Amino acid sequence: MIKCSVLSSGSRANCTYVSNGRSQILIDCGLSLRETERRLRLIGVNPEEISAILITHEHRDHVNGVLTFAKKYRVQVFATMGSLIGAKKFWDDRASYRRALKAPEKYFVGEESVSSMFDFRINYLSADDRINWEGFLIEPFSVPHDANEPVGFRITADKTVLVLATDLGTLTPTIKAYLSSADILILESNHDLDLLFEAPYPWVLKERIRSDVGHLSNQVVGKFVRELSNSKSCRVKVLIGVHISENSNVYQLALENLISAWQGQVNELPEICIAGAEKPTKLFTVSEVELLTLAECSIDIVPQSVAVGG
Ligand SMILES: [Zn+2]
Ligand SMILES: [Zn+2]
Repeated sequence: MIKCSVLSSGSRANCTYVSNGRSQILIDCGLSLRETERRLRLIGVNPEEISAILITHEHRDHVNGVLTFAKKYRVQVFATMGSLIGAKKFWDDRASYRRALKAPEKYFVGEESVSSMFDFRINYLSADDRINWEGFLIEPFSVPHDANEPVGFRITADKTVLVLATDLGTLTPTIKAYLSSADILILESNHDLDLLFEAPYPWVLKERIRSDVGHLSNQVVGKFVRELSNSKSCRVKVLIGVHISENSNVYQLALENLISAWQGQVNELPEICIAGAEKPTKLFTVSEVELLTLAECSIDIVPQSVAVGG
């Protein structure tokens, strides 16, 4: 069984809550400590119960609140070495900075010296690792993005699979395979190509966003979702669009894009929503038992209502 809520999403702050019923983790923590605590309580979760934070990559909107949350609640942090090295400048561990500045030769030399900079336990991960953590199987996979060592995550608990892929420029066959294995799919739908063209950004930034190491557009995601909706192996029950751009996308447009892309005759329309910056999505729950029970009933499974969350 997996429960999840996207607490915040977008270019300002990203944070996703995931539970297997026994233990609870966050993927990224771009919100401030106070706002992370507030939003967890909004979905009925005590921040004390969070045991780990997984980091996708070092950009500020993903790591800004990691250090303060990890220190206060003594949670363990899972990240690639590249993400940690990149994230250190966003973390206000002044004492550690001073130590590092006094011994710059140790700064980038190996895992030990980087670990000693932080007051919380760091677990290094690499793409294609398989990590068992308190009832979760955590599988990071590489994504193309302009960060040091960015990853997406497949998280399995009791045969239920959540896949999160945000901040990536392209969908490679390997990434599509990960996405296609999800019961709960949290997928970036950053910008609309037409709106990006008109957005008040310098041209060089527009080129970066739409590059192979930038962000996914509604158009690219729509094409993939169409393929997914026709796939016989598709098991998606919840589809959440995330990292919606403030200036080159609109929640309603991204939502309608996902719904209209689901054209398959093969698979029922999943519950679809958009995660935003203002508030958490509802708490989604998907479990193997629930799916089996529904499959055994010979009633039609009515597609659940579609709503713009958060
Ligand atoms: Zn981001
Ligand atoms: Zn990023």
